[in-house]
Amino acid sequence: MKRAIKDFHMDRFQEWVADLECGHELKMRHNPPYMECRWIGTGKGRQEHIGDEFECIDCEMPALPEGLSLKESSEAYDRDNFPDHLRSGITTPDGVWGKVVVEAGMLQFVIEPESDASRGFLLDPSFAGVMAPNLLHHLLPAMGNVTFHIDYYAA
Ligand SMILES: [Zn+2]
Repeated sequence: MKRAIKDFHMDRFQEWVADLECGHELKMRHNPPYMECRWIGTGKGRQEHIGDEFECIDCEMPALPEGLSLKESSEAYDRDNFPDHLRSGITTPDGVWGKVVVEAGMLQFVIEPESDASRGFLLDPSFAGVMAPNLLHHLLPAMGNVTFHIDYYAA
């Protein structure tokens, strides 16, 4: 989904990040042909590109429906006790939604792997994964350690 840039800030790695109108963030790295933004290094360049639209992958995350209640939370997982069933694929049954909450580090989250509709995300403490019922999801550790748990919601 295309989203306009509202502002920019520098992250802790000294890289420029765009603040999109949807509230998500986009790392701005000049890396043609994937991203063309040689202007990112100057204040004038950034000012001129406020309002530009970029594809926001994070907006493709399903939204947890309103009105559900938290039914169960998993234990906390990390690299050492990472469950095999999350790597190989997890599906929640009819009516049950999962919210993958990262407490520290980063986690790869793939919706419907091996399908044309496959979508991959990098979860972190500011961006949770949402599992809709009856879809296959893969969870994999990203770089470094990660701590996370899954909250299960139903009506
Ligand atoms: Zn977004």
